[in-house]
Amino acid sequence: NRQYLFDHYPNVVVTSECFKLHDEIISQIDEGEILVRNHYLSLDPYMRGRMSKAKNYAAGQELNTVMQGGTVGEVVESKHADFKVGDTVICTGGWQLYYRTAPTMDSNHVRKIDVSRIPMSVYLGAAGMPGITAWYGLNKIIKPQSGETLVVSAASGAVGSVVGQLAKQKGCRVIGIAGGPEKCEYVVETLGFDDCIDYKAYPDAETLSHELRQLAPNGVDAYYENVGGYIMDAVLDNLNAFARVAICGLIAGYDGRAIPISNPRAILVARASITGFIISDHMDIWPQALAELAEAVAKGVLIFRESVSVGLESAPDAFIGLLQGHNFGKQLVKLI
Ligand code: NDP
Repeated sequence: NRQYLFDHYPNVVVTSECFKLHDEIISQIDEGEILVRNHYLSLDPYMRGRMSKAKNYAAGQELNTVMQGGTVGEVVESKHADFKVGDTVICTGGWQLYYRTAPTMDSNHVRKIDVSRIPMSVYLGAAGMPGITAWYGLNKIIKPQSGETLVVSAASGAVGSVVGQLAKQKGCRVIGIAGGPEKCEYVVETLGFDDCIDYKAYPDAETLSHELRQLAPNGVDAYYENVGGYIMDAVLDNLNAFARVAICGLIAGYDGRAIPISNPRAILVARASITGFIISDHMDIWPQALAELAEAVAKGVLIFRESVSVGLESAPDAFIGLLQGHNFGKQLVKLI
């Protein structure tokens, strides 16, 4: 079994030296276990937070252990009553070709998925953890009302693309923020957002805030934050009174030092409600959110896009690229 181990803590930014390829022999599975051949590995920004000793909401990744990560794949051996060979499953299968479940396996580690209407990879994106994160932050924190103006950052990505499409369906005017003209064109032309600002054309909070004011002269009622840094400052500057802000992620500060808000006065002036959340604290909403998102993808009313790198060996570079915005849509690795 070929796998990537966590080999070194990053010295500021992640480099390929942080990971080490390793081959292991898989022994016979025991009663109650299954063996899964992983087909797709999900690469997610949260993995960067785990590669650190800093305080976090979840325990850090230990050195010399298999890199953690969500996967979808096929059961190839089973000694578990609930799974048979050939079942398609989603699991926390890690950066490796095969995943042998622990004897203590529960339904959070491995779940069967229905691939009759949507491809298995989508369970790692729009109909998986990122989509459910979008659903939760939008429906449970922002609670958008028809006619409101909502801004979402990292708008072309796995989470942001779902946020904007769901908000459009609820009657909001939606403005995305994304890096580069190609991503912005996709957000407007394909995903149907009303506007999208290429933040790279506005390299500081002042110019970005000014541009946002041109597009939202009546102000911003809700902000779904994926990025942080000066983008957050620029949006906070445009908030209407009693705006709601969902802090989902702050990726601009993940691969280095966290970037503080430089203008907390904007929060006071807007009397804004700002709520951070971590989706794993809200497992109760997963069944409903997953059902709605999978149905929307199957019907073609929720559009998704994937960046797929091929081969386990491509995972480190794809992950480093994700932290730099080289992905365009949900970043996956196809494990051949
Ligand atoms: P994406 O598919 O959006 O990929 C990450 C994107 O972040 C990049 O494509 C890039 O887009 C953008 N980005 C990277 N660096 C910067 C930067 N310095 N400044 C601005 N933008 C940057 O990833 P996800 O959809 O998986 O995740 C989006 C956010 O949601 C992350 O912050 C993640 O941590 C968070 N998240 C939080 C969860 C929770 O439970 N709270 C669960 C899942 C995700 P661009 O080219 O447009 O800049």
